[in-house]
Amino acid sequence: MATPEELRAWDHAYLWHPFTQMRDWLAAPPLIIERGEGNYLIDLEGRRYLDGVSSLWCNVHGHRKPELDAALRQQAERIAHSTLLGLSNVPAVELARALIEIAPLGLRRVFYSDAGANAVEIALKIAFQYWQLRGEPQRTRFVSLVEAYHGDTLGAVSVGYSERFHRFFRPLLFDVLKLRPPHVYRWQQGFAPVDALRAAVREAEELFAAHGRTLAAVIVEPLMQGAAGMWDHPPEYLRTLRNLSRESGTLLICDEVATGFGRTGRMFAVQHADVQPDLLCLGKGLTAGYLPLAATLVTEEIFTAFLAPYERFEAFSHGHTYTGNPLACAVALANLEIFTRERVVERVRERAGQLSRLLQQHVAPLPHVGDVRQVGLMVGVELVQDRATRRRYRPEWQVGNQVCQEIRRHGVILRPLGPVIVMMPPLSITEPELNHLVTSCARAIEAVTSRLDERPP
Ligand code: PMP
Repeated sequence: MATPEELRAWDHAYLWHPFTQMRDWLAAPPLIIERGEGNYLIDLEGRRYLDGVSSLWCNVHGHRKPELDAALRQQAERIAHSTLLGLSNVPAVELARALIEIAPLGLRRVFYSDAGANAVEIALKIAFQYWQLRGEPQRTRFVSLVEAYHGDTLGAVSVGYSERFHRFFRPLLFDVLKLRPPHVYRWQQGFAPVDALRAAVREAEELFAAHGRTLAAVIVEPLMQGAAGMWDHPPEYLRTLRNLSRESGTLLICDEVATGFGRTGRMFAVQHADVQPDLLCLGKGLTAGYLPLAATLVTEEIFTAFLAPYERFEAFSHGHTYTGNPLACAVALANLEIFTRERVVERVRERAGQLSRLLQQHVAPLPHVGDVRQVGLMVGVELVQDRATRRRYRPEWQVGNQVCQEIRRHGVILRPLGPVIVMMPPLSITEPELNHLVTSCARAIEAVTSRLDERPP
């Protein structure tokens, strides 16, 4: 292996990191991870860091989980990859069956891909083609939530548009109808939660009344809009979207790429609201954070609309080289077994309660914490310069990035969303580790915000 000095130099010389201002990145030596162990990442010098964002929200049972390592090794001894185009493979079949067994009622078919964005892209394309096959070609429009995030391919960006991130691509995107979720009213306009919900429901009712017959689908991140900055909404709002979409004959796509696999304290977030989506997008935790695998689950009604004589060429023409990759599917199967054996979802609920208490005790009272939002083991702590007026910090101060640099001194890795500090630990986090995560976060916020207090506004 190259020396640590070589690796750091080569990173700067050859790599382009995602969602990263490379000018800043090149100004400091990179932290390079060499190993993982349980809930910790270990760098080239052997320093250990608690993986506070689950390696970008995907790790579930910690790193080097023996059962997952074994599943990967055993599958590698059989075959690493063969295609699902015109062939099938053992783990892809077994995983599809296992997923349908645990999926929300009504979902009967699994279409694989290899990233959350692709799972979304596939859901949009299936919905769009479905209405043409069903003889309702006027249903061409999609509805999504303000500040939704659904991935970085162009269809996913069309429904998950963010001015800050995506404005350069605007001319390449298709037009989408937008709904303001309750969070917008509550946080940005200072409504009480019930009024925010009422306003959001009314807005949705009006939109469906005006456009219902031209809609292909509404897409939503259930309960928590992750990349928006951890914007939560109550289960009632999701139920409203389900009812309105059903009444107007529109499809409901739930994007559980971030919320799926136990993260919210149920296997899938829609289960908090008793909602059955028509299409469900999964990724991230599907392989417990081991390998790139995603899936789009659909109802039998959608699936059968695509059945036709060959020469009509109505098959769903979408596929990737690594669709249904056997290594990834084998690990995903082992992942699901661990969920059952270790009663992971129950443990998440217990940890979520502990986390909530810790946040209330150590983080919520800090003078620059404007809001603490939590669903299960998903947390966003919004930092503000002035709590009373909710005035934001100047973006060039990079308050979120500074806190996440500071917390490394305490042996914790976090990645912010602008001024929102995200905590999204592996579901296997222990109580002492949670305590360390939250108290370190509080200390890092205190250190950075008091330094910023000394700057002229
Ligand atoms: N949907 C949601 C809700 C997400 O949070 C993400 C990624 N953070 C995606 C889709 C995209 O997934 P991927 O990065 O695997 O393409």
